[in-house]
Amino acid sequence: MVEDAGKTESKIEVVKRNSRHLRGTIAETLASEATHFSESDETLLKFHGAYQQDDRDVRHERRKQKLEEAYMFMIRCAIPGGVVTADQYLAMDELADRCANGTLRVTTRQGFQFHGVIKKNLKAAIAGINHCLLTTLSACGDVERNVMTCPAPLADEAHVLLRRLAREIAVQLRPGTRAYHEIWLDGEKAVSTEQEEPFYGDTYLPRKFKSGIAIADDNCIDVYNYDAGLIAIVEGGKVAGFNVLVGGGMGMTHGKADTVARLAEPVGFVDPEHGVETIRTIAAIFRDFGNRADRRHARLKYVINERGIEWFRDEFRHRAPFDLREWRPIPRPSFHDHLGRHPQGDGKWFYGVFIENGRIADRDDVRMKTALREIVRRFRPGLALTASQNIMLTGLTERDIDAIEGLLTDHGVKTVAQLTAARRYSMACPALPTCGLAMAESERVMPGVVDMFENELTSLGLRDAPITLRMTGCPNGCARPYTADIAFVGRRPDIYHVYVGGGMEGDRVADLYAADVTVQDLVAMLRPLLAAWAKDRRPNEGLSDFYQRILQRDAPRQSITGREDPTRELVELKIGAQPEETVP
Ligand code: SF4
Repeated sequence: MVEDAGKTESKIEVVKRNSRHLRGTIAETLASEATHFSESDETLLKFHGAYQQDDRDVRHERRKQKLEEAYMFMIRCAIPGGVVTADQYLAMDELADRCANGTLRVTTRQGFQFHGVIKKNLKAAIAGINHCLLTTLSACGDVERNVMTCPAPLADEAHVLLRRLAREIAVQLRPGTRAYHEIWLDGEKAVSTEQEEPFYGDTYLPRKFKSGIAIADDNCIDVYNYDAGLIAIVEGGKVAGFNVLVGGGMGMTHGKADTVARLAEPVGFVDPEHGVETIRTIAAIFRDFGNRADRRHARLKYVINERGIEWFRDEFRHRAPFDLREWRPIPRPSFHDHLGRHPQGDGKWFYGVFIENGRIADRDDVRMKTALREIVRRFRPGLALTASQNIMLTGLTERDIDAIEGLLTDHGVKTVAQLTAARRYSMACPALPTCGLAMAESERVMPGVVDMFENELTSLGLRDAPITLRMTGCPNGCARPYTADIAFVGRRPDIYHVYVGGGMEGDRVADLYAADVTVQDLVAMLRPLLAAWAKDRRPNEGLSDFYQRILQRDAPRQSITGREDPTRELVELKIGAQPEETVP
């Protein structure tokens, strides 16, 4: 290690250092009658892909009755590029019923999550995931998380390369410890040695590290949101190389102006054969310079904020045995959600299915879980999970797709044509009752919030105008709220901060637009802005482009710093002045 950036170690650093490469006492607790794990093992479990949680709906009542929390676990799979086979999907579907709460959740980082797993099912669930050749290792914890890339199963050279690269990065940066096999797969016990983690060492990374690979004309993975990003530049059908981004990250803390949501910024350009080593080098710089004293500041974005991008370039050049060239200018990216039917370029077709907030469940009249199971059993498609929490069914014929649409309709699932834009592009994090950090509801109230906005937008003639609505139960940003057109970020029960001004393209950070708004008041508070957008927007102008125009901004906003952002009152003042300024 080159430098320890922190003056003192945080408690978590000590836990990692003493864990014998992520072993702790997980195996012993697993074999015992205990209902839950100790605080230090809870930290280590994350590296294995599991979060210890409790049912927040009953927490208060249980405490009143002097009962311990109703412990349960969330398990997350790391699936590079989100690609799974039909057999793997069916195994996940069955595990959700046997070991979890009967639902499966597509995450915003192209993985699957199981919720409500009780301790006695934890080992069976993780072993079951591994038996179908998927893994939970490094889906959480202070390591390289799931590697994202465009999941469209296109047969062109660029998309094929990106899928391969995502897998290679994941393999290269996966923890080397044997602890995972020992604990979950009954692997032979090994002694922890220095060589066990040649890249991560004893304390792994200061915090999580997220990377993704996009294509210059399609930012479907929101590449500016991550610690490290590669943007493939395609020339003549071939990848000429990658523009490199560093320092993105959405998480921040309410009331702490020194925590920010930040877009990744350009570093330079590397040749196509250096994609894996580029991400590895960036992760190594974070490992060596990230803050290990204060976890709120332990992300690469703070290293860049403090030391500057020029310092980062120098450090990268110093370490990489290849050239870091000048960033190649690229047009503003577009965004594709890949829903509906599309040719793959190899004679086959793929079909993107909308999954509201990623939750695959049978609820009321919408039997999504049953529908997908029957489709996968009957047509045996490949599957790919998108960064918008949807699923693509791949390798199909057009006739298959006709039949699949019929099956979905029979199970109450809407086709893309039946969705409003507000619902199609909406996302919410899980929040209550499972997430221990949630301050307010998210997934459970978002469908109703979207209903309200659907009505408002439809009445304004904006039913099909693309708009991203996102909600999270706390400021950690799991559903990427700060790059949305409109986002609601939980403050306390029923109360949200409202952000405006990101956009579909994911290359701009939103402003804090209004603080402490109740769910019931969200539409009324945004109505003047939506009405002005409907009235004065230029052809095809998105809400955030309109919003930025009335504020007369022409450069992307890099970070949120809290209340110094324009308030609703300022925007409404400008909206009032808008008619004279509007360009016909
Ligand atoms: Fe939990 Fe907050 Fe993430 Fe939502 S954004 S899942 S509430 S940590």
